[in-house]
Amino acid sequence: MTSNTELNWGIHVLDTGFHRDNMAACYVVEDEGENGVEVAIVETGTKDTVPVIEAFLHDRGIDFEQVKYVIVTHVHLDHAGGAGLLMQMLPNAKLVVHEKGARHMINPAKLQAGATAVYGEEVFSKTYGDLLSIDESKILVPADEEVLTLGSRSFSFIDTPGHARHHFCVYDNKSQGFFTGDTFGLAYQELTTDKGPFIFPTTTPVQFDPDALKYSIKRLLSFQPQRMFLTHYGMVEQPDVLAEVLLARIDVLVDIATRNANHSDRINVIKEEVLVYFIEQLAEHNCTLSKSDQVNLLAMDATLNAQGLDVWLSLRD
Ligand SMILES: [Zn+2]
Repeated sequence: MTSNTELNWGIHVLDTGFHRDNMAACYVVEDEGENGVEVAIVETGTKDTVPVIEAFLHDRGIDFEQVKYVIVTHVHLDHAGGAGLLMQMLPNAKLVVHEKGARHMINPAKLQAGATAVYGEEVFSKTYGDLLSIDESKILVPADEEVLTLGSRSFSFIDTPGHARHHFCVYDNKSQGFFTGDTFGLAYQELTTDKGPFIFPTTTPVQFDPDALKYSIKRLLSFQPQRMFLTHYGMVEQPDVLAEVLLARIDVLVDIATRNANHSDRINVIKEEVLVYFIEQLAEHNCTLSKSDQVNLLAMDATLNAQGLDVWLSLRD
């Protein structure tokens, strides 16, 4: 049984169970309005997350009819892979997705083909199963800064390209926080120390754009948020302090990629340098985990970051 944590403001964090504990979250937001309690689910995880959400709603005494929105920050499959299956369970819910991601939710064939090419047939079907399509009439594509209400609270949708062009972040006025998807980086709880969360960027393929990402992060700060709800993983506070670190680390990753652009084995060289850089930064962060635990926590992200930086280098040239 995966864990869930209650935050304030009617927000729960659920562990999607993606790959390991505490790697990918989804959030359930409840709010009392004139028509009773309304519910939004932010991020769906994969098909294997749907029973987790189902059990959580059941335990909370929430009827499926009360779920008004399923919101995915972008259509990468650790965020939106379970959307089709989840939507089948929720008769009144609208899927809220970036306009550039909506067509992949209506017809997931291309998304499925792309991911199958990356992971192979066997891993794909085990991890993600068949992606189910969602009827166009059930999809909302908010414009930049458009507001949707849930009970007495409001969600503002902010276009945040950089990690992916089909990415928005969601500002929740009640918590004064953003659901940031992958735009505001990753901060695994195992790496939090007396110096706070260890935040780092994700540059996964195929749309990483450092200038756009830095602009999007600064744009989030312009709303003066008090906290960020990361998909990977959980709530962090003092976003202005974390943003400075995050912006600097984007520059370091881009520098690692640029210096190795002409290397014959650049993906592997970039991956190794990114991992070494993270481990060095963790030492400065007073991380007391063993080196092998640190590598285990970060190896997959170093690989994905290297792949994304490689694609970025190719597109740049
Ligand atoms: Zn992503």
